[in-house]
Parts: sequence; C-alpha cells; structure tokens
Amino acid sequence: MKNLITGGAGFIGTQLINYLLKDGQYVFCIDNFQSSNIENIKKFDNNPNFCFINHDICESIYLKVDQIWHLACPASPYNYQKDPIKTSKTIFMGTYNMLNLAKNLNAKLLFASSSEIYGQPKVNPQNETDLGLIDTNSLRSCYQLGKKYGESLCFDFHRKHNLDIKIVRIFNTYGPNLLFNDGRVISNFIFQSLKNESHIIYGTGNQTRSFCYIDDLIKGLLKIMDSNYIGTINIGSEEEISILDLSNLISSKLNANNLKIIKPENDGDPKFRRPDISLAKKLLNWEPKVSLKEGLDKTILQFKRNLK
Ligand code: UDP
Repeated sequence: MKNLITGGAGFIGTQLINYLLKDGQYVFCIDNFQSSNIENIKKFDNNPNFCFINHDICESIYLKVDQIWHLACPASPYNYQKDPIKTSKTIFMGTYNMLNLAKNLNAKLLFASSSEIYGQPKVNPQNETDLGLIDTNSLRSCYQLGKKYGESLCFDFHRKHNLDIKIVRIFNTYGPNLLFNDGRVISNFIFQSLKNESHIIYGTGNQTRSFCYIDDLIKGLLKIMDSNYIGTINIGSEEEISILDLSNLISSKLNANNLKIIKPENDGDPKFRRPDISLAKKLLNWEPKVSLKEGLDKTILQFKRNLK
C-alpha cells in the first residue's frame, strides 16, 4: 500500500510512519517544518520504503498513492495562534489540494479534524452529533473554524465525487515524542518539573481535558482507514482530569514540589472536554488501553532521556 502523510514530521505523523513502515508499506511524507522538527524523521532516512518531500501543502502536488493521511497543520494552541492567518490558509488550501489529489487518484482520505470543532461545549461528553459553539472573534477560531471548514469540504467532495473520506476528531493526545517547546500542557508541566520550575496554570485550573496516549490514537487511525466508514468519528480518552489535578499528578510522579503560578485564562479556553467514543467502540471495536498514569510514566522516561 502506498501512503501519503501530510505533516508527517509532526508528533502524530512520526508515530504513524513508524507503524506503516513496520507493516511493510510505502510512505511519502510531506512537511514544511512549520511546527515540527527534521530530527523526528531522520530515523527513517535509510528505509527504502520512505520518501520525504519538503513541501507546503498550500501548493498542489502530484504523487501516486492509495491513501492519504491528511494531518498537516500546527496543532497546539501556542503554535496555531502564532500565525493564525497561515493556520487558516493551511487548513483551507491544504485540505482542498489533498481532496483534489484524492479525487484524481480515487484514493481514500483521512482528515485529521479536532475536538476543537466542539468549541465551548454545552454537554459532557461530546458526541459526534454536537454542533459546537465557536466565537469567530476568539484566538482559537482560526483552528476551530478551519477544521470545521475542512470537514465541510470533505463532505462536499464525498457528495460530489463519491470520495471515500474519514473525518477523525482527535482529542488531546500526548506521548514520548511531544516537542518540549510545543506549549501543550503535558510537555510544559513535565519540563517545568524536571527543571524545578513552577507550573503555570491558565485560569482556575478546574478546566478539564482527557488525554489519549499516542499509541492508542494511532491504532484508532489505522482501524478507521481500514474501515468502510464515511463520516466523522471521535478518537480520544474517556479519562478526564482537571488541569490542577494533572499538575499535582506530574509533580508527584517526579517527586517535585512545583509552585503553581496562576495566570489569566486563555481566550476561548474550553471549560471541559471529554469524547463520547461509543461510535468508535461499536464501529471499530476501538478504545484506549493505556491509562494516563501509565502513559505519563513512559512520557516522563523519554523526556528525562532527551534532557540529558
Ligand atoms: N494550560 C496550562 N498551563 C500550560 C499549558 C496549558 O494551564 O502551561 C492549560 C490551557 O489553558 C488549557 C489546558 O491546559 O486549559 C490544555 O491546554 P493545551 O494547550 O495542552 O491544549 P488545548 O486542549 O487547550 O488545545
């Protein structure tokens, strides 16, 4: 099977490439390193089934593949808010270009959407039928509305061209290869603890997230791509935790006594977030296997090695 992975040098892309290459498949990886690192993919350099192309997906490209994993876009709030106009452009134009390529090749396309499309949720957990309330004047809107537009474009290509599309709403994900300067809460807290610095908490710290370990996410993506399903599907962990409790958990795992510095809440920050994964359970027989405690241990171990 020939695969194209956009954003392949990123956190999720790198792990996906690992799995596909181990499975004997061929991988074209496209990235422009806007929010990723060339070091992430150096390990694949000598694999004859791997080909890297430095390319911005806002420009069209032609490659002959069977399936497209369209992941490219800065994904942490810190990264996607640095250049919000570029973020919107990457999602709009990149998704359009990839859908056109899939149409020309009659290839399957998996679009990495996000829990962000649920905006400020009204109910917990969030179900695929929830429509999501999004403030267009929020700093998060470039990504939230961008991903919504990406989904909408996928459905239009499906209706007009009968394209096989899979829209995965990815909830918070973490794991050993998170970049330390990514700005996400888990990488921030681990690094702050390792350096004996204070944890910075934005808002009350009572806001919640549900963190899925990267291996579980990848298994979900692989199952969706292999399925006949067309439409949206949540993939994430049901283990919900407040940011304050997460801070305490990471401090205790590292035997650190981190002070907490409270800063103002980030613009548009969702108050709670947890996926309803009934559909993934029923359709794919998928659910996360790695607990937050176990996944954090693996992540902390790798971060300690990297820091050395
Ligand atoms: N957060 C925090 N301290 C940090 C980084 C993040 O308190 O150093 C909070 C952030 O305000 C949000 C939650 O942790 O409420 C998760 O943030 P993250 O950037 O990891 O992802 P999000 O779920 O917001 O996309």
